[in-house]
Amino acid sequence: MDATVNWKQAATELKPRGQSFIDGKFVEAISGKQFDAINPATGKTLTGVASSDKADVDLAVKSARRAFDSGVWSRRSPAERKKILQRFGELMLKHADELALLETLNMGKPISDARSIDVPGSANTILWYAEAIDKIYDEIAPAGSGALGMITREPVGVVAAVVPWNFPLLMACWKIGPALAAGNSLILKPAEQSPLSAIRLAELAAEAGIPQGVFNVVTGLGETAGMALGLHMDVDCVTFTGSTEVGKLFMTYSAKSNMKRVALECGGKTPHIVMADCGNLDEAATAAALGIFFNQGEVCNAGSRLLVDARIKDEFLEKVVAVGNTLQPGDPLDAGTRLGAIVSKTQMDRVLEYIEIGSKEGAELKSGGKQVRTESGGYFVEPTVFDNVDNKMRIAQEEIFGPVLSTITFKDAEEAVSIANDTIYGLAAAVWTDNIDTALSTARRLRAGSVWVNNFDESNITMPFGGYKQSGFGRDKSLHAIDKYTELKATWIKIRA
Ligand code: NAD
Repeated sequence: MDATVNWKQAATELKPRGQSFIDGKFVEAISGKQFDAINPATGKTLTGVASSDKADVDLAVKSARRAFDSGVWSRRSPAERKKILQRFGELMLKHADELALLETLNMGKPISDARSIDVPGSANTILWYAEAIDKIYDEIAPAGSGALGMITREPVGVVAAVVPWNFPLLMACWKIGPALAAGNSLILKPAEQSPLSAIRLAELAAEAGIPQGVFNVVTGLGETAGMALGLHMDVDCVTFTGSTEVGKLFMTYSAKSNMKRVALECGGKTPHIVMADCGNLDEAATAAALGIFFNQGEVCNAGSRLLVDARIKDEFLEKVVAVGNTLQPGDPLDAGTRLGAIVSKTQMDRVLEYIEIGSKEGAELKSGGKQVRTESGGYFVEPTVFDNVDNKMRIAQEEIFGPVLSTITFKDAEEAVSIANDTIYGLAAAVWTDNIDTALSTARRLRAGSVWVNNFDESNITMPFGGYKQSGFGRDKSLHAIDKYTELKATWIKIRA
């Protein structure tokens, strides 16, 4: 990160835009309604944002359909799409400071994370799919000597991407990258808590040369704009990241409308398992603390359940608490801040309520537990650690989405796996052990889309990401993500000779 940037000064100079981007133009909602984009570190309004609803969604879908049918993008050669998407990714990098600032101001994450993780990760996603798309071949089937069987991939059509507020740019780019590379038209609906970076993204996409109507951004509330996209008869695919509860709604929207395909990346309650033979408890403790406190715990795969062998629990937990204590919340615009603000007052109240529930359920509060920095007007919660948690407790079963760790003990690997899998979720899991057999057998038995062995949250674009069970279905990232945005066509050609 460029140490010379004065982020606080830059924040005062930033004039964020608050409109939807439909058919190549920035527009207010037809109704004229707006909602406020709030800075969660101060509680102050950054700007009004168009509260687009069904009428605006209709315009965006019409525009996306027109663009798709015209072939201006969908029938352009992969090599040409690649060039434009590469320009798009490069523009994101060129404007990285501004995008990072929008992300931090609008959702409260530390500027150092926004600038070094979110923005480069988002741009890299676009660049990776751009680079990949003209290297993917179709197939010829072993159909026999009398026919040629061609198996080809075609863009699915109009894609609606509905994303959450915890990684607004990154979650959007995990969907925009493969969907646009594959030739679809797209409508992005950012979360109402964090729409500002998506709006700027639309401008950069247009500047890069993505044709009118191919990339639209509709800002609006979930229950209006989100629902309108889910129920729309002319949207072919919804790709969603968010809560399990809303993910289920999208399945019903699909069933009630045109049976559009739905891909869901939903919640999690990741077990972070530490076996007694783990050789480096300091490393594991740092990973366990960062695994829950990074991004204020607002991470779908946050290691919110710490499963530790009872024999090493006291020693290990002491280390985790010590690391947690070094991560006290600070002003997100300070380059040294590691823990920022919780995205909204509603979310902070929810986190504080869960902390109360944990104490009432009989868990032991080891550290944290309170709102802090109240004088800032913002929403900050201390890193919080519970000990003596039973996996049946609500704090072990329900997604809190905040900096709250629940510690549970086990007596052997068998019990660890059984507790780890005792959840409705299956997004991710981690295990620390120095025994290769324990590592492999545990990793195989964990019902989760990602398993980390002797690390936590290792990640890059080459590996798929998504969940088992009620963490959803379909995968973001890697070439597997292209499956969501393409139809598979079988073409039979008779060979007469
Ligand atoms: P959310 O489900 O409340 O909202 C997600 C999106 O859905 C937002 O754009 C919102 O406006 C929209 N929405 C809300 N209600 C809607 C409705 N009734 N109809 C249609 N759309 C609606 O989730 P959130 O609070 O923004 O984000 C937190 C959740 O996201 C957590 O559960 C977290 O685990 C999950 N998440 C999952 C992943 C993953 O990859 N699995 C990644 C990040 C976040």
